[in-house]
Amino acid sequence: MKFTLTLSGQRGFQRQAIYDPEDSSLIWADSGEPLPLPQTFSRQELDWEPFWHLHHPSNPAGKSRDIKHLKLQLGLKCNYTCQYCSQAHQPHDLDGHPEDVQPFMEQLQGWFAGGSDGLGSGVKIEFWGGEPFVYWKLLRPLGEAVKARYPHAQLSIVTNGSLFDDEKLAWVEALDIGIGLSHDGPAQSFRGPDPLDDPERLTHIKRWVSRRMPIDRMSFNTVLHRHNQSLKAVRKFFAEKLDLPVQAVVLATEEVMLPYDSSGQVLSLQGADHVHYLHQLFWELATGSAMAVGNRGRQLGRSHPACVDPSRSGAMGWRFELLVLGTCL
Ligand code: SF4
Repeated sequence: MKFTLTLSGQRGFQRQAIYDPEDSSLIWADSGEPLPLPQTFSRQELDWEPFWHLHHPSNPAGKSRDIKHLKLQLGLKCNYTCQYCSQAHQPHDLDGHPEDVQPFMEQLQGWFAGGSDGLGSGVKIEFWGGEPFVYWKLLRPLGEAVKARYPHAQLSIVTNGSLFDDEKLAWVEALDIGIGLSHDGPAQSFRGPDPLDDPERLTHIKRWVSRRMPIDRMSFNTVLHRHNQSLKAVRKFFAEKLDLPVQAVVLATEEVMLPYDSSGQVLSLQGADHVHYLHQLFWELATGSAMAVGNRGRQLGRSHPACVDPSRSGAMGWRFELLVLGTCL
């Protein structure tokens, strides 16, 4: 698919250009003359590996111990019931127990090489629920065993933030675990309860944010949907709730919610919402008002250096990426 870009100027000037994402070329529509793209969009010569075999149940993909991104799911139980949760219809009765940790760690070494040095270098290990902190009795020994065995791995947890307390914060700090707090900002009420409306929970979340966000080990993860289309509004919401400057809010998104059931469908983009969403997000990112927004660890570019900790600004450049899932992020 090619894109027609209409450029409008003074005194009714209008000219169109055609962008072809397949080869990243841009030409004037009337003359076919190529337009040089800025250096930032320089063409990348990629050496694609041929891919000719399909995987399906009778031809499954082979197994590899060379895992770069390991997700450990503790179970699907959660203390919330978000409207669009993709796990809502999954069976919730399968979960782990503390006594499973030791045998699991022994088995894990058979499946998982442990990165380039066997100690977790170059590997991300995530602990997932449901809500991982519902499984605190399991999470605690499992996290400690994983950290002891793979000390160089980058550990993280995605959580709804409602079960934060000082004991868990000390544990998270000791193990240097990154935190992604799933929250939809001003549209949280469309999803479910808001822990930021509970004074005690708010106090804990503020403490976690003040300790983990300035060192880039915590973000708010937001799902966008029909009633949540502005990253600028999401950033402003967190800044006001937490008494922070907008630049200090580390924001990530998993883009637009994809519905799994009729509850999610109510919140999905419909009709003209798609155009509005695209225009809104392009405009906010192009003008800088959304600032930098992370997206599953990828990045399109870097923008405003962080100002929460001047000694780290620049090195801690914030990410942004144009945005499209719906569950806990
Ligand atoms: S989306 Fe996350 S917080 Fe909400 S019910 Fe699902 S697992 Fe729980």
